[in-house]
Amino acid sequence: MTIRELIQQDSFPSQKAGSTGGGEYAGPSPWCGGEDRFRVWPSQGEFGKYWCRGCGRSGDAIQYIRDHRRMTYQEACHQLGREVNLPSTLSGSRPAKPQREPRVTAAPGDLWQAKARKLVDEAVYHLWTPTGYPMLDFFSQRRGLIDATIRGFSLGLIPLNRVKKTSVIIAMRGGEWVGLLQTG
Ligand SMILES: [Zn+2]
Repeated sequence: MTIRELIQQDSFPSQKAGSTGGGEYAGPSPWCGGEDRFRVWPSQGEFGKYWCRGCGRSGDAIQYIRDHRRMTYQEACHQLGREVNLPSTLSGSRPAKPQREPRVTAAPGDLWQAKARKLVDEAVYHLWTPTGYPMLDFFSQRRGLIDATIRGFSLGLIPLNRVKKTSVIIAMRGGEWVGLLQTG
């Protein structure tokens, strides 16, 4: 059975459209329809070749059976009356490129926002207590930040020294997160 007949079995007939590659046939794409976008070359290679101008799918009879009839490589070989362990004829055939969908990002949910806001408030509180004096000192003496800036960015301190001997500095400005860093 040629690849053209195989595809025809699935109700996608094709008509001769030229003589390139030993005969080119055109018909609707089994995947994306149309009228003559799907091209088949039954005499190309051992299992023929197909290529769709619409969706870009291409391959041979084995690939077609795997891709369109959802069968395994082994099942495809059986269908075509081939030994499974023949050297692979799959080189040169490939499934269509998967469509890349841009990932939609969204702000964290209300619960996260509320918890984060609480953490920021806590951090700001600690910075302006004796616990935070060394950090305040660091901000003003070493970083040259004035109090208005420190408050404006909601810089804060979460003392974690009992556990990890690290502190977390959190920065917010106008309700927007601008940074989070950890110091040793
Ligand atoms: Zn197509």
